Amino acid sequence: AWSAVAHPRRILLAGPRSFCAGVERAIDVVERVLEKRGSPVYVRKQIVHNTAVVDDLAERGAVFVEELDEVPAGATVVFSAHGVAPEVHSQARERELDVIDATCPLVSKVHHEARRFAARGDTIVLIGHRGHEEVVGTRGEAPEHTVVVESVDEVATLEVPDPRRISYLMQTTLAVDEAQQIVRALRARFPAARGPNSDDICYATTNRQDALHAVCADADLVLVVGSANSSNSVRLVELAHRLGVAAERIDTPQEIRPEWLADRHTIGLTAGASAPPRLVDEVISALGGLGPVSTHERRVATETIDFALPKKAR
Ligand code: SF4
Repeated sequence: AWSAVAHPRRILLAGPRSFCAGVERAIDVVERVLEKRGSPVYVRKQIVHNTAVVDDLAERGAVFVEELDEVPAGATVVFSAHGVAPEVHSQARERELDVIDATCPLVSKVHHEARRFAARGDTIVLIGHRGHEEVVGTRGEAPEHTVVVESVDEVATLEVPDPRRISYLMQTTLAVDEAQQIVRALRARFPAARGPNSDDICYATTNRQDALHAVCADADLVLVVGSANSSNSVRLVELAHRLGVAAERIDTPQEIRPEWLADRHTIGLTAGASAPPRLVDEVISALGGLGPVSTHERRVATETIDFALPKKAR
């Protein structure tokens, strides 16, 4: 009968994981404004790309809209962490909306670079995912002078007005290894291409990928908590695959399928920057419900960064 005791399954937690400073700040902004001004508080787009976060804030009185024409004139509207094109700020002024901007300061930094590069007359190659809100916003700083590039292949066919005047920028949540390949291809074709002063891929994205690397060294399955439209969460799943480890993205622990766990003894666990720590805890409990587990953390960095709230949300 002793043989019925299963070997404990090992959970390898990636550290850092889950919320970054920009996401915490954006959620704080909505919570504070709800407290100070009461419901409804309009939020343009999902405040961060996570279903649980959005549902929770909606329950507490946040009203999520796609565009500003859905917001009554004069109302309060929060802009999401991903940033907006200047055009959206103009629309808000026209409608006399009271804007509270929850754009992550690290996204604002990229916008600033876009304005600087455009001002010196460069074509901006924006490395990122076409259609992602952050890319739409950054591109909006200089739409006539910006081309979006998603892959090494797209670099090969890129046409620019003057190959000597070209700069590049990046979406903050790309895979570091893929972005480096694209930059190498770009510099090979356009040796004069100039980049940002420091990396556009943010500290949180980089740390979560580094931590996943450490976990993938030993995991035989990786679970990534995050929503389908969360760029950095999807990049984590792809990174695990590139490292040869099976990986699944889940929004909630209910999505775990028992067959994923069959014959897998070391489960790597991480969460994208927009996924709440509470969900990671729930995944650990759910795994514990399926048999004995032991939990270990692989921590590659400690994050202490904290962004001040916008004045109107203090
Ligand atoms: Fe800011 Fe990076 Fe978090 Fe995006 S992932 S909100 S850029 S800290």
